[in-house]
Amino acid sequence: MIRDSVFQRGWGTVLDILYPRCCVLCYERIAGDGLHFCAGCERRLNVLMSEPACPRCGHSIGPYGLQNGSCRACRARRPRVDRLVRVGPYRAMLTSLVRAFKYGGRDELDHLLGERLADAIESTAWSDSVDALVCVPTHWSHSIGRRYYAPKVLTRTTSRLTGIPTAPVLRRVAGGPHQLQVPRSQRRINVRGKFDLVPGARVAGARLCLVDDVSTIGATLNECARVLKAAGATAVYGAVIAKVDTAHRGHLAKV
Ligand SMILES: [Zn+2]
Ligand SMILES: [Zn+2]
Repeated sequence: MIRDSVFQRGWGTVLDILYPRCCVLCYERIAGDGLHFCAGCERRLNVLMSEPACPRCGHSIGPYGLQNGSCRACRARRPRVDRLVRVGPYRAMLTSLVRAFKYGGRDELDHLLGERLADAIESTAWSDSVDALVCVPTHWSHSIGRRYYAPKVLTRTTSRLTGIPTAPVLRRVAGGPHQLQVPRSQRRINVRGKFDLVPGARVAGARLCLVDDVSTIGATLNECARVLKAAGATAVYGAVIAKVDTAHRGHLAKV
């Protein structure tokens, strides 16, 4: 046993010399088991993730930004998703991480992001009541040329870490332009009717949590919630890595 741990430590050192570990954000060399970030990036990421958010829609909020549990943005829109938790705002290093995972082929980030999402879900008051995680599905035409579909990988990892099972009860029945390719004013119309229950799926009485990587104005999550609730789901929550704040939409132009 002792010999094993000595051997493992020695082998770990050899690996560190051959393949030095780097911060996943700035590529600075790091030393230490289980670390993903250098001290500076870890600190900045933690600051970003600790920014307060509306528990109803996930928008960043300032002091006194909530009234009866809702912020100004969701009081105006009344989202169909009952609660939305995010890891952080779609800004700075969270944007880099999501883009690397989603478009950069860095599928090894799934555990790191899944851990943060699992922590975010478990920090909510509703997590214990969730029966299953439901991945926001994509259309096959949107998967062409991609090795993996980020929200699906994320849902699987988050399920393993939280112990909440997954339920593939939703499907996307129509393709069309991606949400980021249409003007903001058209996004609700763009996703309307694009999702349906998987044939034979039953969600009556279920409390479900939709999982996606990024939520912009929430149109996709709300359309999925509409379909699930029309089929009898009792509650539909949402969990995303990053939520786009209205004041920071400019970032999307680069995505
Ligand atoms: Zn770093
Ligand atoms: Zn809100």
